[in-house]
Amino acid sequence: MVYNLLEYTMKLNEIVYKRHKIRVFWKKGKDYLALFDPNESTLYISPHLSKKMLGKILFHELWHIICYFKKKNINKLGEENTTLLSEEFAVILAANPKLKRLVYGCLK
Ligand SMILES: [Zn+2]
Repeated sequence: MVYNLLEYTMKLNEIVYKRHKIRVFWKKGKDYLALFDPNESTLYISPHLSKKMLGKILFHELWHIICYFKKKNINKLGEENTTLLSEEFAVILAANPKLKRLVYGCLK
């Protein structure tokens, strides 16, 4: 199987979280790489990220989406700590292919 990141990114146009639907747009913003807008239920992601960066950004934005819908205020934690913590899932999974396969296998 040939892994084609571009194909995957173009296919992802919606994220479903429980009864919520977040529309995904592959568009670069002026001052962000990705942005979840809860008011519009949209997620903007730059289409020009490296694979590694995209992996981290996806966890980061999922973290924002989860906290928003679970009504957890992460302002105290701050954006810097949000970045530091949420993106580590990508780091751990990337360094542990067996763990990654196990997690994905459990979710099928
Ligand atoms: Zn953020």
